[in-house]
Amino acid sequence: MQSAYIGLGSNLADPRAQVEAGLRALARLPRTHLLAHSRLYRSAPWGRVDQPEFVNAVAQLETGLEPRALLARLLDVERAAGRERGGVRWGPRVLDLDILLLGNLRIDESGLHVPHPHLHERAFVLVPLAEIAPDLDVPGHGRVADLLAGADASTCTRMAE
Ligand code: ADP
Ligand code: MG
Repeated sequence: MQSAYIGLGSNLADPRAQVEAGLRALARLPRTHLLAHSRLYRSAPWGRVDQPEFVNAVAQLETGLEPRALLARLLDVERAAGRERGGVRWGPRVLDLDILLLGNLRIDESGLHVPHPHLHERAFVLVPLAEIAPDLDVPGHGRVADLLAGADASTCTRMAE
């Protein structure tokens, strides 16, 4: 079993409900337990600013799935949520599930990069991640709370319950 941190994001089709359903779907993955999740955050769009704001969260799993199997399951959940690929890069999406970290693994393969290449610089990942794992080490980059101190956290605010 391995600890996995998953980033969730949505900015289409009732984003809050999408992220909540995404968390339930993570809890149902085979050989996997949902150990913790952050609260939900509203984030300014990143990459392309001409799109609706996002709802983001981070979940911590314990999983016996191999990295590729986990990725395939996450893409299945995205598809089941109605996500269509082939749109613009960093464009609007119904549900985005990214593997942020997988134990201490470093993977650089076609179609799978872990730690997620932008994790250390994105407030919408660092803010929810710091809520559940401030002391976590991001291999190659350092402690989550320290990375957050260098990011613009004002773009990511916690949603009312
Ligand atoms: P992004 O999340 O960067 O906006 P997408 O969600 O469209 O992009 O993902 C495109 C591809 O990114 C996926 O099909 C997957 O193969 C690849 N990918 C590479 N590394 C990861 C990772 N750590 N987590 C999730 N997807 C990843
Ligand atoms: Mg993605």
